[in-house]
Amino acid sequence: MTSTASVPTHAVAVPTFGKFFLPGPTDVHPEVLEAMIRPMIGHRSSAMEKLLQTVAPKLGAVCRTARPVFVGTNSATGFMEMAVRNGVRRRALSLVNGAFSERFAGIVGACGKECIRLDVPLGAAVEPDMLRDALKRTPVDAVTCVHSETSTGVLQDVAGYSEVVQEFDDVLLLVDCVTSMVGSPVETDAWKLDFAFTGSQKALALPPGLALGVASERMVSRAKTLEERGAYFDLISFLTATTKFQPTNTPAVSLLYALEVQLARIEREGGIEARWKRHDAMRRRVEAWSAEHGVKFLPREGRHSWTVSCLRLPEGKHSKDVVGALKQQGWTIGAGYGALKDSTIRIGHMGDHTVAALDELLPLIGRALE
Ligand SMILES: *Cc1c(COP(=O)(O)O)cnc(C)c1O
Repeated sequence: MTSTASVPTHAVAVPTFGKFFLPGPTDVHPEVLEAMIRPMIGHRSSAMEKLLQTVAPKLGAVCRTARPVFVGTNSATGFMEMAVRNGVRRRALSLVNGAFSERFAGIVGACGKECIRLDVPLGAAVEPDMLRDALKRTPVDAVTCVHSETSTGVLQDVAGYSEVVQEFDDVLLLVDCVTSMVGSPVETDAWKLDFAFTGSQKALALPPGLALGVASERMVSRAKTLEERGAYFDLISFLTATTKFQPTNTPAVSLLYALEVQLARIEREGGIEARWKRHDAMRRRVEAWSAEHGVKFLPREGRHSWTVSCLRLPEGKHSKDVVGALKQQGWTIGAGYGALKDSTIRIGHMGDHTVAALDELLPLIGRALE
């Protein structure tokens, strides 16, 4: 037996960092991956408490909040469920403009709450005025929405939603910020978001498996009045544990090591605003390229996500061929999602990616489109 015989084949061809542009999971920097080989610590040890205490203010800085940031050992969808179980009393209005907002709406129903939908076509955004009209027509106690809809590359006006929601009595705003937070401005406190969450494998550029969430005071008060919050995603137990720098259960210790290292790297880059700026530059780079090459974005101008660009393929081109051609050259991008699977491609320029890497990638996409 050779020394590599026990290595699974999918782990053999290690790609170099910087060529993996899936819209999640995104590429993880080697320095972050390395952090995960440290030995275990007990989850009730002082070392764990110290780790959680060290990351707490840094998490607050990247999530733009003075409130405790929950760290869950689950993918982001778990925090969708946390949002619904702890934030919806009886009936929610779900803004649906793609696959992830659709999922959020589905979870409202799956948790036994009534879901009223406001649907717009794929590639479109729900504008704040539409939200106001819907709330006037239909009394609800919460709104679910997705800030950056990863399936279509649409960035919605969440700050605008918040202003609208404040016009109504006791309506909570529950926001999936999975591909916006850490990659583009999400002002959790200033925008008065009642629940905002993300997952580790998107703009935070960690391996999958962690979720971050922030609950407003209103959200905490609401949760306390709800009896069927469940157990694993009980917001009150997260709040109690987090304020004591404790995990709720045995956390993914290795991922917490990676989180600690990544938060330090973000500080070294110049903090969250420097990170936003780099993402803004990547988005602009794709916009400039697409204008030059006559390739159309799915969303209209002004509604482009900073972390994922969803591009319409020219007539007769199939996403499978484009993605495949890039794969052969060592690069990974995403095909479309759901109904858009064949007719669009998605470039996930999030996390630790750079404009310089896009400068290499975009001409290869151009050639694949010829
Ligand atoms: C990736 C993603 C999710 C789902 O995240 P999981 O970590 O797979 O549960 C939810 N919402 C958006 C917008 C996403 O991009």
